[in-house]
Amino acid sequence: MLNLVLFGPPGAGKGTQSQNLIEKYGLIHLSTGDLLRNEISQGTVLGLEAKKLMDQGILVPDAVVIGMISNKLDANKDAKGFIFDGFPRTVAQAEALDELLKTKNSAISVMIALEVNDEELERRLLLRGKDSGRPDDANPEVIRKRIKEYNDKTAPVAGFYKAQNKFKSVSGIGSIGEIFDSISAVISNL
Ligand code: ADP
Repeated sequence: MLNLVLFGPPGAGKGTQSQNLIEKYGLIHLSTGDLLRNEISQGTVLGLEAKKLMDQGILVPDAVVIGMISNKLDANKDAKGFIFDGFPRTVAQAEALDELLKTKNSAISVMIALEVNDEELERRLLLRGKDSGRPDDANPEVIRKRIKEYNDKTAPVAGFYKAQNKFKSVSGIGSIGEIFDSISAVISNL
């Protein structure tokens, strides 16, 4: 199985690159952000609780997202592989993901980190907020909180994969095609 963790701060371009990767490699895309927004639009209890945190730019509890990912892995038993987008976002989530994959005799193949500087991120997110309709993209204070959550809780996840020799980084600045070529080069060298 080809199991990719696409890593990077909010606005790094993980969603855009995921779309290209799904087409090229036939992988299943698991975005915890999309799964949570789906719960919100369906008005579930989980969605209502998650929305309160997401609208403030705060991470939702580990147990919630781990449960969602576990369900999706079970629902896609015959998949060729997965792209994890926006997950794991804490070291506890990364540990739980390793355990979940182990029960399926599988493992993460590689983490690919998209590197983008903070000013460019803020600019992209405010731009996206104009038409995404996402409440967490519309407010500069919430965007800064998301970047802070990323630096405090998510950035350490890179160290988790570095320790397993599974960390690769590519520049997230340039055209969508150029960035995709860099990601594809990492995958073909696995
Ligand atoms: P972005 O990466 O652009 O901020 P996402 O759609 O991945 O957007 O996530 C939006 C929000 O959903 C996050 O700010 C957080 O509140 C919540 N969220 C998404 N994934 C996770 C996760 N793995 N753990 C905790 N919270 C998450």
